[in-house]
Amino acid sequence: MLHEKLSTIYDNVLRRNPGEIEFHQAVREVLESIGPVLGKHPEYAESKIIERICEPERQIIFRVPWEDDQGEVQINRGFRVEFNSALGPYKGGLRFHPSVYLGIIKFLGFEQIFKNSLTGLPIGGGKGGSDFDPKGRSQREIMRFCQSFMTELYRHIGEYTDVPAGDIGVGGREVGYLFGQYKRITNRYESGVITGKGLSFGGAQVRTEATGYGCAFFVEEMLKARGTSFEGKRVVVSGSGNVAIYTIEKVRQLGGVVVACSDSSGYVVDEKGIDLDLLKQVKEVERKRLSAYAAKRGGDGAVFVPGRSVWEVDCEVAMPSATQNEITGKDAERLVRGGCVAVGEGANMPTMPEAIRVFVDAGVAFGPGKAANAGGVATSALEMQQNASRDSWTFEFSERRLREIMRDIHDRCLSTADEYGLAGNYVAGANIDGFKRVADAMLALGLI
Ligand code: GLU
Repeated sequence: MLHEKLSTIYDNVLRRNPGEIEFHQAVREVLESIGPVLGKHPEYAESKIIERICEPERQIIFRVPWEDDQGEVQINRGFRVEFNSALGPYKGGLRFHPSVYLGIIKFLGFEQIFKNSLTGLPIGGGKGGSDFDPKGRSQREIMRFCQSFMTELYRHIGEYTDVPAGDIGVGGREVGYLFGQYKRITNRYESGVITGKGLSFGGAQVRTEATGYGCAFFVEEMLKARGTSFEGKRVVVSGSGNVAIYTIEKVRQLGGVVVACSDSSGYVVDEKGIDLDLLKQVKEVERKRLSAYAAKRGGDGAVFVPGRSVWEVDCEVAMPSATQNEITGKDAERLVRGGCVAVGEGANMPTMPEAIRVFVDAGVAFGPGKAANAGGVATSALEMQQNASRDSWTFEFSERRLREIMRDIHDRCLSTADEYGLAGNYVAGANIDGFKRVADAMLALGLI
């Protein structure tokens, strides 16, 4: 239910942004949490902070022409939404996926404002991407696309302005091509203009692992707060990309058993625990579908289930790490019946609103993405810090920093929820804490 004032604001968001359903969903979810804050802080409503936060500071849409391997001209659409820079330069990834349109980039950019605020580090919120589909494209095509994309994007970004990174469809390889083109056009070795770089050219230790590791650390804290741990727990991780792979790696190190993961073609169940080396080989080196994992694992008991949702597999901990809106209300009911006690969102907004309600009502520890997956962007901010000081930290030190940051986010979510009489509600805690820091900065900076 929305507080009356917030309901009017939400109606205006619907009217001003027609058809952008994912953006509407992300806004509604935050507005549903911040009602109690308005009672305590009338200055936010008086200066229309919420209305201002819901309107991006700047939205850039551009043409990306490129030539495929057959010599045919292809045209895609590029986006960069610079949502909020009250806390620092816009910061957020680039997503290359055919589903991308303005509504997806705005939902992601909006989430990023609060996520970045929650890290406690000086980064604003933004997001970008393209409807380009990297699937089946050759390395040369990917490079030409990245170069064309940056040929327009470069004029909008900079170490002190806007700092992109990866997201779905954009990993280390793409970041390398993007940075190379930026460097070539500007003739500046401006390392802090993009994060997720390779270790040989300004990248940071643990950045590759950070989102998955951070999510596992966050869930570990949630379990600890309930007097338990990952030890011996049955875990399902959806997805099999960067976030899923490093979630599986850290969950295993923390004593959990990951029995299933998925991709867009189906899911694989491996009761003995997913073989991580094989998964990395299939997904990162061969870039094949999950059926190849089951085929290679062979007689050892891995089963590939095509075309179905991995959320039909029972588990004690669910870590959705694929994409938005993958856990439905029905999935959530089934997971609760199957004994699920904790959910950590490695992806952005993977749980549908009715499913969040099911989890929260059932007393499941539910870690929303803006808190649970903030380790990725937090480590990006550490990369910017290392770039600015021309330094590079060790893996051990970087991982320790990540762990501290995740613990701090977890504790602040809990204490903020407590303060507003919503004990144990991580969704409210994350939204309120993330919102307040941005709102206070906006008030302090005058009418921006
Ligand atoms: N794409 C990631 C996210 O959703 C990371 C963004 C970044 O490192 O800037 O938070």
